[in-house]
Amino acid sequence: MPDFDAIAETYGTPAYVYDLDRLEQAYDDLVRTLPTGSLIYYSLKANPHPALVRRLGGLGARLEVSSAGELAAVIAAGQSSQNVLYTGPGKTPEELGGALAAGVRLFSAESFADIRQIGAAAERHSVRVDCLLRVNAPDAVGGSGLRMTGTSSQFGLDYEQLVAEWSAFRPPTTVTVRGFHFFPLTNARDEATLLDEMTQSIRCAAQLSHQLGIPLELLDLGGGFAAPYAVPGGRPQYVSLRAGLQKALEKWLPERDKGRPFLAFESGRYLVADCGTLLASVIDVKESKGRTFAILDAGINALGGLSATGRLLPVNVGPESTGQPGPTFTADLVGPLCTPLDRLGRQVKLNGLTRGDVLRVPNTGAYGLTASLLGFLSRPVATEVVVSSGRVEGISRLALVRTTEGEMQQ
Ligand SMILES: *Cc1c(COP(=O)(O)O)cnc(C)c1O
Repeated sequence: MPDFDAIAETYGTPAYVYDLDRLEQAYDDLVRTLPTGSLIYYSLKANPHPALVRRLGGLGARLEVSSAGELAAVIAAGQSSQNVLYTGPGKTPEELGGALAAGVRLFSAESFADIRQIGAAAERHSVRVDCLLRVNAPDAVGGSGLRMTGTSSQFGLDYEQLVAEWSAFRPPTTVTVRGFHFFPLTNARDEATLLDEMTQSIRCAAQLSHQLGIPLELLDLGGGFAAPYAVPGGRPQYVSLRAGLQKALEKWLPERDKGRPFLAFESGRYLVADCGTLLASVIDVKESKGRTFAILDAGINALGGLSATGRLLPVNVGPESTGQPGPTFTADLVGPLCTPLDRLGRQVKLNGLTRGDVLRVPNTGAYGLTASLLGFLSRPVATEVVVSSGRVEGISRLALVRTTEGEMQQ
């Protein structure tokens, strides 16, 4: 375990600490959960820190990106663009051009217009590219943390639309469709939900491939692997998913042979959530009308900008919030920003409540820093500390820098 007290002392707070040993453990767990030979894509959206990307790439993970910045993080981490899947509903011709110039050759297409646009960009670069068709499958089973598809959606092509219009569609000659991409849910409630969704996707892919004559070489079943967010607790272990998937593959793709189609899965939070701990100092403790407020040096500018969606917060630090034994206090955890919205948690029990105490917010490696309101109130961004085998391996801090016209990059 990293020496959190020494890190806070040396580098100050707020600071994110990422423990690469835990990252490896999460990757190993996911490999063990999935059928042998599956490709695992790490979704940089969860945390684009190059040290995490580098370690995961070194372990064999591929990389799912959806912006020029995420692609730049892949390159900064020394990873090959050959291992990249480029996704997202709003790809512009400029970013497609940048991705092609960087060597990306696999895209997930979200609409007929998107396929044409990917094809046109490939033609301009005189290259051929592979595409997965992202599908919004019907009859999703429900019960998920955050449903992405199944009803009307900005993601993917509706199953019905594909069936009705594919035969009349002429994909650009620079594009080869290799299979389908599903991402029906994130943060699944339980293992049964995950397996139901993936089985549904396998069935849908088999039907589409058969009906439309699209060869199924790569089947990306997305993810939905869950992880706690900013509260104590461990990642779920999916003990029967591998066998369940095997059964579904035998049923719906009985001719599956020699590992074809290749199976791909995607994960952000399962891989990186529990490697991250946010260290925040208590700056002030105040009483107001019977309530205690712990004012921290980290607010929604450092953790939980996604709270605007109402889905991620509240934070809970757990009884070992400072790592020291001590009496338990109850307080509202608030940040330093001048808005009453800067509240990380209400009536949180913690075992430190004196100015200078350093609280540890667990499970903040995914959707932590870059999912926050970094620019709001113009405070310095939290420091990021990378630890491997108990040793500090890298210190960095993102900065928002105003550039002027001549220096602006896309
Ligand atoms: C957000 C996203 C992911 C990662 O989701 P997690 O819940 O963090 O695993 C994977 N794939 C796609 C297409 C996404 O949009």
